[in-house]
Amino acid sequence: MDIVKWLARAAISTTEWEASFGGYQPHPAAVISDEQFGKVFDELSDRLRDSTPFFHPRYAGQMTRAPHPAAVVGYVAAMLLNQNNHDLAGGPATTQMEHEVVGDLAAMFAMPAHIGHLTSSGTIANLEALFIARQTHPDRGVAFSADAHFTHERMCALLGMTAYPVPTDTHGAIDLAAVEKLLRTGAVGTIVLTAGTTGVGAIDPIADALPLKERYGVRLHVDAAYGGFFALLSDDDGNALEWDPAPWRAIRACDSVVVDPHKHGLQPYGCGAVLFADPAVARHYRHDSPYTRMFSGGPAHLGEITLECSRAGAAAAALWTTLRLLPLRRDGLGALLASTRRAALRFARRVEESSALTLYQQPSLDIVTYFPSAARTVSEVDAVSGRMLTDGMSRDPTDSIFLSTLRVEAAGFGGRGHRLDADAPSGRILRSALMKPEHELCADDLVARIAALAPPVARADGRVPR
Ligand SMILES: *Cc1c(COP(=O)(O)O)cnc(C)c1O
Repeated sequence: MDIVKWLARAAISTTEWEASFGGYQPHPAAVISDEQFGKVFDELSDRLRDSTPFFHPRYAGQMTRAPHPAAVVGYVAAMLLNQNNHDLAGGPATTQMEHEVVGDLAAMFAMPAHIGHLTSSGTIANLEALFIARQTHPDRGVAFSADAHFTHERMCALLGMTAYPVPTDTHGAIDLAAVEKLLRTGAVGTIVLTAGTTGVGAIDPIADALPLKERYGVRLHVDAAYGGFFALLSDDDGNALEWDPAPWRAIRACDSVVVDPHKHGLQPYGCGAVLFADPAVARHYRHDSPYTRMFSGGPAHLGEITLECSRAGAAAAALWTTLRLLPLRRDGLGALLASTRRAALRFARRVEESSALTLYQQPSLDIVTYFPSAARTVSEVDAVSGRMLTDGMSRDPTDSIFLSTLRVEAAGFGGRGHRLDADAPSGRILRSALMKPEHELCADDLVARIAALAPPVARADGRVPR
């Protein structure tokens, strides 16, 4: 699709709709000439050159990508109208779209019933889930894995709940035996399980955790901010993608789930989502706002079930537009996710074949972690990884490569069978979130480029070249 053509159409369509209300006198204080605007626009464009090329396949670092052009046009078309999904009157069309896309997300997880909404981010979506957790179990804390997103610890502090970090196994997934030990104390009311940790993309054993819900009367919250859309690929045996689909299928039996459309859902930033299995949690959101028309019966106002007040209706329109074109099915958006998983498997194989690079662990999802083989100590891994990151980015733009680093504990190497001298408590390794389908097409090239940034493996005298 031609984004220039459709952005222009969005502006024209808005202008036509506005004209249907009749003309009015613009105030001179707000009028800007094209000439004035042109100068500032040139400056803006110039300053924006100092940005990171998330769109390019040679960006293989953090979990970020460019939004799909369909999402951008959907966003701009609605943003020009500045609808506010807090209140039904603030955005009738975009509120309806939000109900539809939230329904689509719930169907993706096959949740039997749901209530939910979009949020400005995964952070806020998790805050809402933990807020409901606290309202449900006011005197009990929250357990999550030591590798869970840092937001859980922070939000527990914000909500005045005790946080219980639990150790992980050698793949970075939560240790359920340790969770159960904690549950026996009665101190925990909610377990957070992560479907795709932010660091290595580990998947907590959600299906195995389900019996704990009844046995200990706890809530299960799934943080699938990153990995949630992989649920689209959970309806077969998982052999082709070399994974176990059970955790994705178990989400439907949990109490709440968070997924970020602005990560794997092709959306621009400003789009998270939280879903609850029990529509009755809406009671915890009750408020008595004199500004808005709510709790009046009739169709639900999203403001009745959100902690945030004003929210961009444009975010709902962007996601709605995208899902009309790439529906939440295996052959829709699922095809893109399958390609990112295959990209990671292929990338990991190439790393294993390379003498210059060592795979930190097998990828559970589409995030690959690795480090320079020449390094013999944790501090060397850290220094060389850091150098490779900077060297890759500072090459000529046509030859640059963008990676990210991940700080891991020294014990993490030994636990995964890597023999390194633990001369420092932790060190940075390299990390590539291969979240663009194009990564499947260029995985070999990426690994070759990264290997070329790494020092050659140990010389005869055993010293590591820097
Ligand atoms: C990204 C992420 C978050 C935070 O979401 P934001 O949208 O960045 O606020 C929380 N949990 C996990 C697992 C994530 O990957």
